[in-house]
Amino acid sequence: MMFLVSWRAGCRTGFPQIGNYHIRSLPSRPALKISEVQSTMRIKITPSSRTAECSLCRHTEFSQVADRDRKSNELKTVVCKKCGLVSHECIPSNQELLEYYQEDYRSEYNGEATPSAYRVLREWDRGQALVKQLGSYLAESSDVLEVGSGIGCTVKSFELAGHRSTGIEPGRGFCEYSRNVLDADVSEAILADLPAEERYDMVMLVHVLEHLNDPMSSFEHVHSLLRPGGLFYVEVPNCGAPHAAPPKMFHYAHIFNYASWTLSHLGQSTGFDVKEVISSESNKNLQILFQKSNTRNDSRSFDMNGYEKSCASLTRYTNLTYHLRWNYVTTRMATMVHHLCGRIRAERRLEKLIKSFPEKSDIDSGIRRAA
Ligand SMILES: [Zn+2]
Repeated sequence: MMFLVSWRAGCRTGFPQIGNYHIRSLPSRPALKISEVQSTMRIKITPSSRTAECSLCRHTEFSQVADRDRKSNELKTVVCKKCGLVSHECIPSNQELLEYYQEDYRSEYNGEATPSAYRVLREWDRGQALVKQLGSYLAESSDVLEVGSGIGCTVKSFELAGHRSTGIEPGRGFCEYSRNVLDADVSEAILADLPAEERYDMVMLVHVLEHLNDPMSSFEHVHSLLRPGGLFYVEVPNCGAPHAAPPKMFHYAHIFNYASWTLSHLGQSTGFDVKEVISSESNKNLQILFQKSNTRNDSRSFDMNGYEKSCASLTRYTNLTYHLRWNYVTTRMATMVHHLCGRIRAERRLEKLIKSFPEKSDIDSGIRRAA
């Protein structure tokens, strides 16, 4: 079953019409003709009819960069002609997103309502990598929150590293897995459910921000959750690098597509300083560590060349030249080998990993001693 976001009145009336969105279930589209497929192989910049404000800079002029998503379903994607933010032409409402993520997103996106052992092990490696990357910025026994914690591996990894680590996750299946199998401190909730209290030393959004329909409000809410000087780690697909071939670049679930200039702009205009851009420019993932500041300043963060840079990034490769890159070929081969090896005795290895976790009471007493 495929869920599509549709609307009655279209976008020309702007954001007040967003309440008219609804999610409808449609039969699969018929296969595209070859000529249609070829037409999607290179990103083309064309005029857009969108008149609603840009969610980042409030500008009202856009160019259209795509009319299809990566499954060849209709999806108009635009780029703001001032700041370069790339987004859906029409932004889905909160209610639509809530229904989508609570019941259907995980199974559609990954083919798994409950994660396989192989997938858990992969996520575990990512959680461990984040502890390595970010642990040195944290004092012992810090209060860490992951928003959209998925399976819960990152939450558990930070807990085992000696922090008071919690997560919120709207997907019921993964939330239950986090609690029942990993014994991670994860609640079924979304960011807006958390009261505005300065109680965290670090908040993480790992491949979550691109799914949120109001990034400014989300950043402002995270700001309200952090203690003075608190850290905010954001990781998203890097729209400024070749993270996908042109026909596969856009996805219904990814409402906004960020590059370093638009993500920095978002942080600095909502009260954060860029502490470190962790990822390299060519990395398919963009990783930025922000720090809570007491000032917000649009002018210092605004990149005058944002639009040109976004257009250049989107049109850098055709479908063919994307796949012929040496870096793509080597990375793809390494990933395939890693995936093949990763599936070997995955259940057994996961069972062993979970058995190695110390008792919760031992971790808590360790944190109390450190504090
Ligand atoms: Zn803009």
